[in-house]
Amino acid sequence: MRGGSKHTGDVILTNVRELRLGDIIDDWCVKCRRLTNHAIVSLLENDAAKVRCRSCYSDHDYLKEIAPPSKKDLKRMAEAALSGEPDIEIPPPAPPKVKSIRKRR
Ligand SMILES: [Zn+2]
Repeated sequence: MRGGSKHTGDVILTNVRELRLGDIIDDWCVKCRRLTNHAIVSLLENDAAKVRCRSCYSDHDYLKEIAPPSKKDLKRMAEAALSGEPDIEIPPPAPPKVKSIRKRR
């Protein structure tokens, strides 16, 4: 007879997602202008550094699925910065220095 079975070596690696060269990941393609499948062509510290679009086969930096600001957006941002409130730094009034005057007697 065998008494209760023991679970041994049940290691669950769900949180560890190691990326490897050639892995297919989603990313924003500037040429396709949409999220497409990308193959990792360069890794940096276990993160994708460069990817290649599987649709148009163009290489670019991994954008982490975030579309970079378009030229239109950049222009709008530049205009907003120019017309925005000027950053004038007003120094806070210096607190009056209190001199403790001690009179000697
Ligand atoms: Zn593409």
